[in-house]
Amino acid sequence: MSSPRNLSGKTAIVTGSSRGIGAGIAIDLANRGANVVVNYTSPRGEVAAAGIFKDIEATGSKCAVVQANLALTPDLQKLVDAALAISEHGKIDILVHNAGTGDDSYLADLTEEFYEDQMNVNLKAPIFLTKLALPHIAQGGRIVMITSVSARMGIPQQTVYAGTKAALEGICKVWATELGKKHGITVNCVSPGPVATDMWTECEPDVIAELQPAIDATPAAARVGEVSDIVPIVAFLCSEESRWVTGSVLAFAPFARAMHIRSIPMWTGSSDNYAYLVIDDKTKDAVIIDPANPEEVAPVLKEQISSGKINLTAIVNTHHHWDHAGGNNKLLAHPEFEGKPIIGGKDCEGVTKTPKNGEGFKIGDIAVKALYTPCHTQDSICWFMEDSTGRVVFTGDTLFHGGCGRFFEGSAEEMNTALNKTLVSIPDDTKVYPGHEYTKANVKFAISVLQSEPVKKLHSFAENNKETQGKFTIGDEKQHNVFMRMDDPVIQKATGKTDPIDVMAKLREMKNNFKPPPDQKL
Ligand SMILES: [Zn+2]
Repeated sequence: MSSPRNLSGKTAIVTGSSRGIGAGIAIDLANRGANVVVNYTSPRGEVAAAGIFKDIEATGSKCAVVQANLALTPDLQKLVDAALAISEHGKIDILVHNAGTGDDSYLADLTEEFYEDQMNVNLKAPIFLTKLALPHIAQGGRIVMITSVSARMGIPQQTVYAGTKAALEGICKVWATELGKKHGITVNCVSPGPVATDMWTECEPDVIAELQPAIDATPAAARVGEVSDIVPIVAFLCSEESRWVTGSVLAFAPFARAMHIRSIPMWTGSSDNYAYLVIDDKTKDAVIIDPANPEEVAPVLKEQISSGKINLTAIVNTHHHWDHAGGNNKLLAHPEFEGKPIIGGKDCEGVTKTPKNGEGFKIGDIAVKALYTPCHTQDSICWFMEDSTGRVVFTGDTLFHGGCGRFFEGSAEEMNTALNKTLVSIPDDTKVYPGHEYTKANVKFAISVLQSEPVKKLHSFAENNKETQGKFTIGDEKQHNVFMRMDDPVIQKATGKTDPIDVMAKLREMKNNFKPPPDQKL
C-alpha cells in the first residue's frame, strides 16, 4: 500500500531511527515525501542505519544518516545541521523524539550512573534538541514524542524509565502552550504499550511477566503492538490534518482488568509444579490454587497480604495428589492464613467445601465454576473462571499444554469425556493454566505422532520459553494437543484405532512408553 505524499518538501529529524519504532517512523515519513535525518548511537546501529538510508533513498526522498550520542549536547547540534543541509527551504518541519533507553533496575540497586544514562537520553536530549532546533522550526511545525504506558502503570524496576516518560508527557503540555500560539507548532506524545522490537525482547523475563496482564487487557487486541500499529499515528500527528491536536497523549493503555493471575513455580527442575494466585483487582479478593509447597508459596502470599495487594479468601485444589493438595494443612498453620476454607475435590487434604459439578463461587467479580473431570484422580476438578475481560481454566493434572495426565484412578473413557466433552465445550479463547510445566516433554511425544504446523509451533515455543503456562487457549489445545484430536486420521493411523475411547487408550499407552531421542531437533 503506498502512502499519500502529504509531507512532500518537509524535513524531519527522527532520533534513534536505525531500528525498531524509530526506523519504522523514518521510512514512513520518507514514503510520505519528507526528507529525513536518521540517527543512531552505537556502532551496532551503523549497519542498520545504512539499510534505512537505502530504503529512504528508494522512496525518492533525501536522507542524512548521523551518528550522535544523544547524551552529549554537542552531538545534538549535528542533527540540526544535517537537517538544515537536506532541507529544501532552510527549515525543519518535524521533530520526532523517539530515542530512549529502557534498562530495568529495582530502586535498591539503582546507581547514579544508571539514572544519568537514562535521564540524559530519554529526557535531557529531547529538551535540548528541541531548544537547538527551535529557531529553525517552521511555522506549523510538528513535535512528536514517543513515550510509554509505563509512565502511568507502576511497573516494578522502571523508576527512571517511567519517570522520564511521565516527564515528557508533562513537558508536552507545557510546550503545546509555549510553542503553539507563538510558532504554530503542535506537540504531542504517542504512548504505546509493549511493541515487538528488539528493546522488548531484551526485557528481563520478570518485567515481561509483570506486563502480561496489561498486554492481555489491551483494548484494541490482546497482543504486543507492532511497529506498523504505531507508525501511522505518528504520521497523522506530523500531517497538516492534525493542526488542531496538541498537548495530547495518545495512550494505548490497557483497561483495568478484574482478573490477575500470578504463577508461583514450585520444585522447579524436579516436578515443575505451578501454584497460581488468582486476584480480583477491584476487591483484592484472591484464592491460591494448589499451594503444595508452602515454603515457596507462603512468602509470596505474605508479601501480597502485608502490602495490601490481596485479601486471601480460600485455598483451591485441582485434585488430591500431595504435589497439589499436600500443602493445605501446613499453609493453614501459618497464623496469616488460619481458618481459610479449602475448596476442592472430596479427597483433598483438609477440604472444607466441594461444589457440585457445574456449580461454583465468586472471587470478587470473577465467576468460578467447577468442571468435574475424573480420571487422573476421581476427585479431579478443572476450575473455569470468567470476568468481563477474559476467561481462564486451571486444569491441574487433567490437561497440559500439548498433553494430558496419567489415568491413575480412571479410564480412557473418562479422560475422553474430560478432554473431549467437558473441556472442549468451554469457549475457545479460554486460557489454560495446567498444574505442571510439562510442555517440552509433551510436545516431543506429540511430534512423534503428528507433525502438523500447530504441533511444530508449540515445539518451537517450548524450546524458546521456560514457562508456557497460560500462553495457550482451549482453541490452541484443540489444534496442537494430540489427546484432543481423536478424529484426526493421522492419529487414528498412528494408534491403529478409530473409536475415540480406543484411540485415547492407545495414545496414552504410547505416551507412557515413549522414550524421546535426546535433544530431538526438528
Ligand atoms: Zn496429580
